[in-house]
Amino acid sequence: MKKIVFATNNLNKLRELRSAVKDFDIIGLKDLNIFEDIPETGNTLKNNALQKARYIYEKTGLNCFADDTGLEIEALNNNPGVYSARYAGDKCSSEDNIQKVLFELTNSTNRNAVFKTVMALIIDGKKYFFEGHIKGMILKKKSGIDGFGYDPIFRPNGFNDSFAEMSIERKNEISHRGIAVRKLIDFLKNY
Ligand code: IMP
Repeated sequence: MKKIVFATNNLNKLRELRSAVKDFDIIGLKDLNIFEDIPETGNTLKNNALQKARYIYEKTGLNCFADDTGLEIEALNNNPGVYSARYAGDKCSSEDNIQKVLFELTNSTNRNAVFKTVMALIIDGKKYFFEGHIKGMILKKKSGIDGFGYDPIFRPNGFNDSFAEMSIERKNEISHRGIAVRKLIDFLKNY
């Protein structure tokens, strides 16, 4: 089976990807004994995804891809966006981020939000990008225990469940990352 590196330390993302991609052997950074934090200093999702993929490509010489995801909330001027990981401050937890969002939306009737993912692939020295997004609502309180990050407070439009109430397969079918990954897979199949 063809091998490709997913440049992430996030085991939840790796699990999602492995459940979505059956034709490739997805290698995580742990499998390569890389445990350091990959720099992520860009001001767009695209720049961050490329920065992460390039860092690992240059370090290992292996074909690889990386993703960057942001949650844009309409009532918060599309924040936290590219700053979603550290919205509540450096070294904050997902719980801190969720509580900050819920607090800031306390009096807001506009709960519209969109999850966006950009994936950057570097293969044989060339770079390619794949994007996915899904629109939804920020719930008034957490619902569900699966998933990760902002999943318990994001409910995709047209569904009754938050991402954290869905199976991993269901989330992959509709999610921002699932959409971007299927574009990446189609590209790799024809490469
Ligand atoms: P990054 O792409 O790992 O930089 O993620 C940015 C932020 O978005 C982190 O706080 C993640 O926990 C969160 N995040 C990324 N993907 C998802 C998702 O699929 N659901 C919920 N939160 C996510």
